[in-house]
Amino acid sequence: MTPPPALTDLKCRNCGAALSAGDISPQLGAARCGHCRSLFALPTSSPASIPRPEVPLPAAFKMETLGDTLVITRRWRNFSAWFLLFFLLFIEQQLERHLGSTDIPVAGEHGH
Ligand SMILES: [Zn+2]
Repeated sequence: MTPPPALTDLKCRNCGAALSAGDISPQLGAARCGHCRSLFALPTSSPASIPRPEVPLPAAFKMETLGDTLVITRRWRNFSAWFLLFFLLFIEQQLERHLGSTDIPVAGEHGH
């Protein structure tokens, strides 16, 4: 039951000299003695990677990968946007068919 020693309390395993902060590389989990220049691993060599909690995406978001491209879409907004677009295109098509065409039956010109 020994608490993990602080990095500043570390001493050289070779000559016992106190290590300064500049002698210690937490990223590498190693230290180099400023006296005898010996390199040794830190006893409490904790990897640099700090466990990060995975942040879940909101339910409205959909994450997928297309090839090597990450695509994040908002589900309902995406759907309604496409629906609205198709709806508008459909309406426009209908309007064009009725207004843009020349052969609109006009009342009074039926008799031939
Ligand atoms: Zn040393």
